[in-house]
Amino acid sequence: MTSARPPVRTRFAPSPTGFLHLGGARTALFSWAFARHFGGTFILRIEDTDLERSTPEAVQAILQGMHWLGLTPDEGPFYQMQHMTRYRTVVASMLAAGTAYPCYSSNEEVEAMRNLARAQGLKPRYDGTWRPEAGKVLPAIPAGRKPVVRFKSPQDGATAWVDLVKGPISFENTELDDLVIARPDGTPTYNFCVVVDDWDMRITHVLRGDDHVNNTPRQITILRALGAPVPEYGHVPMILGPDGEKLSKRHGAVSVMEYDREGYLPEAMVNYLARLGWSHGNDELFSRQQLVDWFDPSHLSKSAAQWDPKKLNWVNAHYLKQADDNTLAQAVAPRIVARGGNPVQVDLLAVVRLFKDRAETLEQLAEGALLFCGPFRPATDELIAQHLTAAARVALRDFANQAAPISWSREALGVLIKTVLATHGLKMPQLAIPLRVAVAGTTQTPAVDAVLEILGKETVLTRLAAFTSAEN
Ligand code: GLU
Repeated sequence: MTSARPPVRTRFAPSPTGFLHLGGARTALFSWAFARHFGGTFILRIEDTDLERSTPEAVQAILQGMHWLGLTPDEGPFYQMQHMTRYRTVVASMLAAGTAYPCYSSNEEVEAMRNLARAQGLKPRYDGTWRPEAGKVLPAIPAGRKPVVRFKSPQDGATAWVDLVKGPISFENTELDDLVIARPDGTPTYNFCVVVDDWDMRITHVLRGDDHVNNTPRQITILRALGAPVPEYGHVPMILGPDGEKLSKRHGAVSVMEYDREGYLPEAMVNYLARLGWSHGNDELFSRQQLVDWFDPSHLSKSAAQWDPKKLNWVNAHYLKQADDNTLAQAVAPRIVARGGNPVQVDLLAVVRLFKDRAETLEQLAEGALLFCGPFRPATDELIAQHLTAAARVALRDFANQAAPISWSREALGVLIKTVLATHGLKMPQLAIPLRVAVAGTTQTPAVDAVLEILGKETVLTRLAAFTSAEN
């Protein structure tokens, strides 16, 4: 008989102490993709037992960030604060089973034990005063003192696992202290809550940041003491900034939602984050479905990934180009309004089509769109003096006269521009730049025929008239 492997169940377990940061989002993405790849279940668990640092706003920020990235949990969000009774029950059962024991040493006593160990050149640790052993007589219980509960950690051998990312890792059990699993008031401690939840949620694979490597042997030994299955663990290295230091505010935004504000598309973020520490050959651009199809933990990288804003922009530009025009128009409209423009007064789809190939972010797209639906900023005197010379004005006048009767389209405008160039013996920039300066107030715009088309006949002729009527 073959024993079937249990269905894959992964979890993302953020502590709600701030926004969803890039490292957390990447861990969530890996756990999500892993579950999807194996047809498993992705669970969201909010680790909110640190009452001083957890806030409801942070919970909302995490949910919002995950929603934006499309990382929908199949189960949860679950909240650890709602599992308190369960944790206390498990502590009681461990006390009953002898896998945990009450410890009456005071904080000061434990501190003194640690100092003593340090002075002897040993790892600072609890000295086992209250650890019950066969034949050992425990001290008298100090009156009125409430105990902590300590896990009776195995003292011989080693605790080892084959990390999905880092390969084999082993800790000597002598290095593992008898961990406090419940405080004097009975509240459970961090590692213990994680263990009970991973067990209850039947988690099969834990993917998390490598700042948790030291917690893993403690969690494994407790799971074993409980007779619980031990999940597989994969610890992903942290993300570094472009300068090789740990990624932080100094390097720019670290909150995922800040990237929404800055005009990045969630598809681009997912693609870019996935490549930070995971690869599929040399593929840089892939869809969410391809990520799921390809997501194989054996391609998670052992070395730290480096944040590269230029590459993120490149990825985002790709997704902007690919995006549906209507979706982009909807996404960019509020950004235009925020800049004082009026997206309703223009053919926004045409504007989007014009800029989507040249913008790296929705913010850049909105900035470009202002050319058509923002308040008109006429050219400076300097630009006028430089580009709207007498000769240029003669050509512009001819252009305006002939433009008045034509049916307004990019093609017709293109033909007309060529005709005027030929008539006046000019090269393209000698007409295109004065045209831009006159109708857009700048020398830099996308293709001039496209710009004229979107601005519309009335606007173009009115703005040209300022430079081509007899008085000017
Ligand atoms: N709550 C932990 C954190 O936010 C993660 C715990 C885990 O994944 O095991 O760092």
